[in-house]
Parts: sequence; structure tokens; C-alpha cells
Amino acid sequence: MVYDLIVVGSGSVGAAAGFYASRAGLKVLMIDGAHPPHQQGRHHGETRLIRHAYGEGARYVPLVLRAQKLWDELEQLSGERIMQRSGVINLAPANSEFIHNVISSAQEFNLDVQVLSADEVRQRWPQFTVPENYVGVFEPQSGYLKSEIAVKSWVRLAKEAGCAQLFNCAVQSIETDGDLEVVNTLDGRYQGRKLLLSAGTWVKALYADLPVTPVRKVFSWHQADGRYSENNKFPAFTVEMADGTHYYGFPSDNNALKVGRHDGGQLIDQPEQRKAFGAFAEDGSEVFNFMRHFLPGVGVCLHGAACTYDNSPDEDFIIDTLPGHPGRLVITGLSGHGFKFASVLGEIAAQFAAGEKSDFDLTPFALSRFQ
Ligand SMILES: Cc1cc2nc3c(=O)[nH]c(=O)nc-3n(C[C@H](O)[C@H](O)[C@H](O)COP(=O)(O)OP(=O)(O)OC[C@H]3O[C@@H](n4cnc5c(N)ncnc54)[C@H](O)[C@@H]3O)c2cc1C
Repeated sequence: MVYDLIVVGSGSVGAAAGFYASRAGLKVLMIDGAHPPHQQGRHHGETRLIRHAYGEGARYVPLVLRAQKLWDELEQLSGERIMQRSGVINLAPANSEFIHNVISSAQEFNLDVQVLSADEVRQRWPQFTVPENYVGVFEPQSGYLKSEIAVKSWVRLAKEAGCAQLFNCAVQSIETDGDLEVVNTLDGRYQGRKLLLSAGTWVKALYADLPVTPVRKVFSWHQADGRYSENNKFPAFTVEMADGTHYYGFPSDNNALKVGRHDGGQLIDQPEQRKAFGAFAEDGSEVFNFMRHFLPGVGVCLHGAACTYDNSPDEDFIIDTLPGHPGRLVITGLSGHGFKFASVLGEIAAQFAAGEKSDFDLTPFALSRFQ
């Protein structure tokens, strides 16, 4: 049996790819070392932000707008609540590059955003303490995604569309046999015409030459009452502190508000080094300074979790075929901001498997930029 597409790593991007390629009528095999959704990858912890006006650069906006359409469709297809349109407020010093990008990408793509002064932010959400020199950009159409439910839905829908699934079985190596891609696992050897390498942080175990650095990250849930809830119109948020550090968070759910720091973390090179939340002294304290200044009413840490980023050198994505292997697409280097794009990245992989050209300009994400 030769598959049209073998997906190596069926977490966020791989689960989406498995579904879109199966729905397109291709013969697909999804493989994963665990059983997605699970806690060892990067899609756990319940939620991920989706922002449309993009501080990381306007080149991401066409992708995220398509991703949003696919998230809405996934909700319809799965019957699950996946997207919470809580709105996202981005807060940063007026001279921040990130906030400039948010505003200019919104202008370029005519996105629905509201640019607010510090005073306007404080009036609307008195829960926030905002310094005078800050700007707020509110995106009412953005919000957050239920990441584990999304992955679970794609896995189920892919199976229903006829996709073969091999879970709890890690890929040990990848090779080529003539025109075919060959995947070796403890369960056996599988052949495909095309291969998607979407193994997340540990992709270098399968292709060592990728410029990807695993970083241990944590997020934590803090006591916060109904004033911080979505019912009370409290939004998801990103905040750049005056010292350049970046934080993000979500409206409280059951009196627990999830928050995390985007920069920082510990560089690691083995999965065992992703120690549980609390293993490092700063796990419990790294968000305190931020909360004391911006959300002083939020209370103690209730619990936390560890996760990993797969950072590329410029923190932009890597979406490319591997050198000398036109049948192998790699999607990695998502650098801690990739979940919101998982739907469109899965669709791009499905188009690749079908031999179709992507509708998007993927040149900013080519591996050649690191040469
Ligand atoms: C703390 C934290 C906060 C984040 N916040 C946001 C956010 O707010 N918004 C946002 O858009 N993004 C966010 N992200 C980033 C986002 O979650 C990731 O970019 C995205 O989930 C990565 O998807 P992936 O498919 O590459 O990885 P994963 O979902 O981890 O999937 C990779 C899969 O590959 C499997 N695998 C690995 N090796 C093998 C092997 N040898 N054989 C078989 N299978 C293998 C793994 O088991 C896993 O299931 C955050 C990430 C973290 C860690």
C-alpha cells in the first residue's frame, strides 16, 4: 500500500493536514508518537490566542484570515465550540514595534480594530492598570481557540473521512526509496508519495539540520473572579511591558485566569528536560511583576503547566520542502505563535500532497533565508 500522504506528527498542524487531505480524497496515514490530543506536545493547556492584526508582521494576515474561515468551518463540521470571540486587546508602549505592526497590518487589510488611549482602555476595562504612554488596540473579531478540542475534532473527522491512523507509535527514521518516502516505525515500514514532517519541537530527531531551538515554557492559572470573565466582556490580551517583555492571557474561566510570558524560558535539547511546572523557581513568579503592574486584582497561582516552543532564528515559521527532497514538506519553527494557523497550515499541506500550488506567498517562510 502506498499512501498519497504520510503525516509524521499528528498534533496541531498534522491533525489538520490529515483531515484536509483525507477530505480531498487522498489516501492518508497519520502517525504520532502519542495519541493526539495529549499533554506532551504543544497543543495542551486548553486555549490559544487568535489575533488577526499581527504584531509579528503583515505577511501573516492573509494566512490568519484563511485560518479563521477554516476554524469557523471546523466548528460547523464538528459540532464543537472551538472559537471564543472574546476580542483581544493588545497593550504596548506607544513606540513599540509590535503595536505599530498591529496597527499597520490592520490598516493594510482593513481589519476591524479600535485604537484606544490608556485612559480609554482603563474606562472600558477598569481591571487593567495601564501606564499613560501606552496604546491599546482592540480586535473585537479575534479571541481564542480551544486547542485540545480542535485537535480532537480533526482526528475524529479525519478518521471519518477514511484516514488511516497509527498512534502511540513514534517514527524512528525517514528515508527515500526511488520516488517514494519511507517511514520506519516499531510497527513497521510505510510508504507514501508525499510526506509532511510536522513533529513539533522534536523534529530535529528526524532531520537534524533544521534551525529549530526547543524552549521550555510555562503558563499558569490564577485566581480571578467574574469581573475578569468573558461574560463580563473581559477580553483576551497581549501586553508588552516597558522593559520589552511580552505577556498574554485569557478571560477567566471558572474563576481561573490563564497567563503566560511569551519571551524567555529555558533552552532544552531533550524531551526529558521539559520538566513539569514548578521545577524552576521562576515558573511560579515570572508573571508576578506583570500582574502587579497591569492586573493587580488577579490573585494567587492555582496551577500551571509546561510546554515547549520550537523557535526558528528569526521566530518566523518554516514552511518548505527539505533540501533534495521535493516530496517532503516540513512545517516547523512555529516559535510559540503557530496554533492559530494550524488550520491553514494543514490545508497548505493537503494542497502540497495533492500536487497543487499554494494560494499563499510562502517565500518568507523558506529555509533558504537562513543560508
Ligand atoms: C506555552 C505556549 C503558549 C502558546 N500560545 C499560543 C497562542 O496563544 N496562540 C498561538 O497561535 N500559538 C500559541 N502557541 C504555539 C502553538 O501551540 C504551537 O505553535 C502549535 O501548537 C504547534 O503545532 P505543531 O503541530 O507543530 O506541534 P504539536 O501540536 O506538538 O504536534 C507535534 C506532534 O508530533 C508528534 N511527534 C513528535 N515526534 C514524533 C515522532 N518521532 N514520531 C511521531 N510523532 C511525533 C508529537 O507527539 C505531537 O503530537 C503556544 C505554545 C506554547 C508552548
